[in-house]
Amino acid sequence: MSKKVRVRFAPSPTGPLHIGGVRTALFNYLFAKKHGGDFILRIEDTDQNRYVEGAEKYIIDALNWCGIPFDESPEKPKDKFGPYRQSERKELYKVYADELIEKGKAYYAFDTTEILDFHRKDHEVKGKTFIYNWHNRLKLDNSLSLMPEEVEKRLASGVDYVIRFLTKPDEKVPLNDIIRGKMEIDSNVLDDKVLFKSDGMPTYHLANIVDDHLMEISHVIRGEEWLPSLALHQQLYDAFGWDAPEFAHLPLIMKPVGKGKLSKRDGEKGGFPVFPLSWNESVGYKETGYFPEAVVNFLALLGWNPGTEQELFSLTELIETFSLERVNKSGARFDPDKTKWYNEQYMQSRNDAELASRFLTELQEYSDVKERSRTPEYVAQVVSLIKERATFVSDFWPLSDYFFVSPSKYNEKATKKQWKEGTADIMNQLLEVLITQTDFTSETLETNVKSWINEKELAFGKVMPPLRLVLVGDMKGPHIFDIIGIIGKEETVSRIERAIAVLG
Ligand code: GLU
Repeated sequence: MSKKVRVRFAPSPTGPLHIGGVRTALFNYLFAKKHGGDFILRIEDTDQNRYVEGAEKYIIDALNWCGIPFDESPEKPKDKFGPYRQSERKELYKVYADELIEKGKAYYAFDTTEILDFHRKDHEVKGKTFIYNWHNRLKLDNSLSLMPEEVEKRLASGVDYVIRFLTKPDEKVPLNDIIRGKMEIDSNVLDDKVLFKSDGMPTYHLANIVDDHLMEISHVIRGEEWLPSLALHQQLYDAFGWDAPEFAHLPLIMKPVGKGKLSKRDGEKGGFPVFPLSWNESVGYKETGYFPEAVVNFLALLGWNPGTEQELFSLTELIETFSLERVNKSGARFDPDKTKWYNEQYMQSRNDAELASRFLTELQEYSDVKERSRTPEYVAQVVSLIKERATFVSDFWPLSDYFFVSPSKYNEKATKKQWKEGTADIMNQLLEVLITQTDFTSETLETNVKSWINEKELAFGKVMPPLRLVLVGDMKGPHIFDIIGIIGKEETVSRIERAIAVLG
């Protein structure tokens, strides 16, 4: 690659960033970093009607959370290339629109919305589609159909007008996409898109091309939904006489089942997040308890394949391995279960101390937890035993509450099965054994209790299951001696005594 790699993520601040948008940003980031290039945030806010307060901050917060920082952004401008919000570059675009008019590559159009609507409907009735192009532009109200004096008069009078691109008929527009290869579009099917609006603002198309050029963008990596605009963009570069960047259109992220792209509604129906961070009533990946590394990892594999069986990638590994050539053409099916699997993997690799500190924060909600079990050491021991069963930190409490509070009730079915005549007697005997133990660590205790069971010729099934019921309140949980080792002698004894008293 001869040119310095500069890529941009160019969202419109019209609401929260969908995870599809995060994936686009991620692929841009990976590509930039792989090639020692720059990753730029440009806010495309030319459509003032769709502007949503807080959306820009949301985009930045979301990508910060994911750990994919920008080299340049509205907050981190570089003089030569800024400003990074299109609304602040407003003055610039008119000059370029005028340049196209001068070159005869664009023209003024005065048609009112009512007239255009009329044509659209009229065509529809006849089973046709109205396209503003070579086919009918001379029958419409524009600087190609009107006399020059009339055009001058209208412009001077201040009536509303737009500037349209003049698409040449009968041309084959050659296009190239890194993922899809070469394509050719028949210019006769293209319409003369509006480049500049009557409100003095450019449309997306003009602003996008001008900015990509001025910001020296080398590669445009964006969602597949922009592929239909590529022919116009290519023609615009040609009209200005500029070299176009290279293009890569990423495949759509598809619904978990059925046709169509993943939507907010799919998330609501399936109970999974579609936004990185919460936005109003929609809960985000962060707030659900996902680790950002897990989100980055599963997003990277939505549409890109490393060519190997490897599924777990750190960000550094992704940067090393990523290539646009290995991005698939076809849509990537979103699998909510797989996203959980990823979180579970990252849960296992997290160290216990860090998880314990998160869990400690959650434990503040539970006032009946004793102070002595609120220490980082105690909580880390618990976490090490239960994390393999957890998807999120929020699963820790239901998986481990009995480490912190003695069971308030005993599972009925399990009690029926495990607490028989004679159980209380066995538990009393066990109590005596436990009280005399000086070493309460899991392994020693296990050896001693097991040799006591053998000595007394008791059945394991008569001792161990009721003991679990007594300590946990249910038949769940990790190795019983690990539990005893953590809750300690005093607590173990008191739980057994209490069960004998309650269950008799
Ligand atoms: N503003 C467009 C969007 O919202 C950017 C498309 C592009 O990257 O060219 O997705």
